[in-house]
Amino acid sequence: MIYIHIPFCQRKCNYCAFNSKVSDATEKNSYIDALIKEINLRGDESTVETIYFGGGTPTTLTLNQLEKIICALNKNFRVDKQAEITIEANPGTVNENYLRGLKVLGFNRLSLGVQSFDDELLKILGRIHTSRAAIETITLAKNFFANVSVDLMYGLPNQTLQSLRHEVNHIKNLDIQHVSIYGLEVEEGTKFFELARADNLNLPDENICADMYDFITETLPTLGYNRYEISNFAKKNFESRHNCGYWTGKKYFGFGAGAHSFDGKLRTSNVRDVATYIKNNVPIVEEVVTNQAAMEEFCFLGLRMTAGISAKTFKYKFGASIFDVFGAVIDKNIRRGLLKVDGDKIFLTARGMSLGNEVFTDFLL
Ligand code: SF4
Repeated sequence: MIYIHIPFCQRKCNYCAFNSKVSDATEKNSYIDALIKEINLRGDESTVETIYFGGGTPTTLTLNQLEKIICALNKNFRVDKQAEITIEANPGTVNENYLRGLKVLGFNRLSLGVQSFDDELLKILGRIHTSRAAIETITLAKNFFANVSVDLMYGLPNQTLQSLRHEVNHIKNLDIQHVSIYGLEVEEGTKFFELARADNLNLPDENICADMYDFITETLPTLGYNRYEISNFAKKNFESRHNCGYWTGKKYFGFGAGAHSFDGKLRTSNVRDVATYIKNNVPIVEEVVTNQAAMEEFCFLGLRMTAGISAKTFKYKFGASIFDVFGAVIDKNIRRGLLKVDGDKIFLTARGMSLGNEVFTDFLL
């Protein structure tokens, strides 16, 4: 698995705390050079089954710049012929020629940051596109990609349950393959944080947010989207293979500013600042993953998926019974109605899905 971080955006959105910024052509070119240098240094010819270009907005790069990165990956890794190769894009940053070019480069999955189909909300979020532009981009993208995903947010300032209903209707009409949902979190360093501090952000209250969450998670399955993870829904066989890799503990390479890597034992990260990354990236060792940490992760990452975790796989990986290690935690959460055991499988109930963080914290020994 490979993740490529492209930290550039056309404009910074009002809620965004991701490692992304507005940049000029010179910095972008230097960044591509540094990225390719890192890929050349760390490539190990291992077989790669998924590649994910995230950001930022990777589609702020030219096709030529993307091609250079793809060439470096092909030179330094064995990219499987059936690999899932995703690129994140924003409506308003791609046209027909560009989409065709992405397909020629080998991208076969497009993840569109739509966030909302309501123009007023898009303005509040500081997005660069309108609802109409999003619908046009999705319609166009379907001509080139058989696998299109859309991100949708809820719990937004001024958003009502009624406006959300209207938004989810768009999903029904657009007939895409995958939907990811995100509840707004107001994070430090964003414009929303300042507005909230000045009591100037009209956020829906907790109960309305819970109703929104229930509405989306109950409606998407009726439209043919299987919920396969807490926040992710897909038509049959369109689950994100890349993200499933994270939740099942696969190894991954992360290239670019602030990107994380995991080699099965060691978790490392690159410097976050773009200028420092370009000048001299020195990866930082974040954590040596102990056996105990690996067991905890196996549980709380695996439980994110509706399929849950397998007691047999736990035994095979760690040589111990999951019920010996986590028996008390499992019993407690079964009593609370948040977990279920069915044969070999342990998984979150519908209620457990909405209170996932409480369950995950319990799995930290
Ligand atoms: S487009 Fe995405 S990464 Fe860029 S500023 Fe907006 S939310 Fe952040």
